Amino acid sequence: MQHCITLLGSTGSIGNSTLNVIARYPERFSIYALTAHRNWEKLAQQCMRFTPYIAVVDDAQTAIQLQKRLCEVGCMTLVEYGRAAIASAAADTACNTVVAAIVGAAGLEPTLAAARAGKRILLANKESLVMSGALFMEAVYESGAALLPIDSEHNAIFQCFPREPGLHGEVTRIQLTASGGPFRLREPITLLNVTPEEACKHPNWSMGRKISVDSATMMNKGLEVIEASWLFNLRPEQIHVLIHPQSVIHALVSYSDGSTLAQLGYPDMRTPIAHALAFPTRIVSGVEQLDLAKVATLTFEPPDYDRFPCLSLALQALHEGGAASTVLNAANEVAVEAFLARHIRFTAIAAVVSDVLEQVQADVSTTLDAVLDIDAQARRAAQAAIVRYLYLVD
Ligand code: NAD
Ligand code: MG
Repeated sequence: MQHCITLLGSTGSIGNSTLNVIARYPERFSIYALTAHRNWEKLAQQCMRFTPYIAVVDDAQTAIQLQKRLCEVGCMTLVEYGRAAIASAAADTACNTVVAAIVGAAGLEPTLAAARAGKRILLANKESLVMSGALFMEAVYESGAALLPIDSEHNAIFQCFPREPGLHGEVTRIQLTASGGPFRLREPITLLNVTPEEACKHPNWSMGRKISVDSATMMNKGLEVIEASWLFNLRPEQIHVLIHPQSVIHALVSYSDGSTLAQLGYPDMRTPIAHALAFPTRIVSGVEQLDLAKVATLTFEPPDYDRFPCLSLALQALHEGGAASTVLNAANEVAVEAFLARHIRFTAIAAVVSDVLEQVQADVSTTLDAVLDIDAQARRAAQAAIVRYLYLVD
């Protein structure tokens, strides 16, 4: 099958890794659309290299700059802008595969558009499932879209899960591994003065800034537990978190007979991306073969919920159900942005999320507008909470 791809968020970390794999197989993958937020210079380079039919950015000013550069170099890629144009690129009949690699809530509309249009979706944007799992999965089932996870833990579970839906009931539990991030061994009290630079310095993975902070607070693992509950239709108590600092085992699936299957590999997103791009076949990703003798030691420990209150908040939201995870996600995005802008302390991220979860309560949403409405409500509450935790850095 020739894959004609829309890559949402092509200028980001996942976008880059995806293009790195795709570049190895020009006969197998072609690009219909590349989309980005504001980084027109990088997008222009990608357009020259991959000649997509269309490139879409968020705003008119960025589109003008991109268009100018593409004209200068004689690149024929069409340029469009705006949220609706990004969603159209994901739903267009000219593409059959959509890589959803926009960060945060901005990814929901185009990823949902791809789901409604019945695409093969390679999902990195976990926030769409956290915000609107019920709506999103319903769209996937109704349209017959194929959902392939590229979040490394979920891709690992997918690889170890029974293929036939009739056998899914044999899975007793899954374990998502987590490195524990840069602050795994720090005393909670010392986290007060953590800087954005320290928080973004992940020991094993190189990622965008938002997910790096989420990894440092372990909110990322909480979002992933929620993501897994939707992707694999599991009850909250069947999903466990296991700290594994080496990030070599990405997830484990346990069965009723006592067997546990795991997927291993070096921490490099090109492996899950290549797996999902080529599924059910296998292609070379550029990632080295795993040498366990060289790795030598794999260690495991239970998560420390006192040190990582964001993990507990996410699990609490999952248990609560309704729109709690929509609220959690929105509050977290606002709080992480405020931390990166040095407006609040690292430890205030959990405090903001907790306050907002208490204030904003709503039932599960059945429409996109209702989801976006709760998201906006939670963002307003988070902005108000941030004022209470403001911390002025000199
Ligand atoms: P990133 O910040 O490196 O890139 C984000 C991309 O989204 C960029 O191309 C940016 O232009 C685009 N974008 C941002 N805001 C936008 C907006 N408002 N409108 C349109 N486009 C916008 O992020 P990343 O690390 O590549 O992560 C992307 C997604 O993949 C996230 O949901 C993250 O949780 C998930 N993910 C990332 C990794 C990783 O290793 N980086 C691993 C697993 C899952
Ligand atoms: Mg992950």
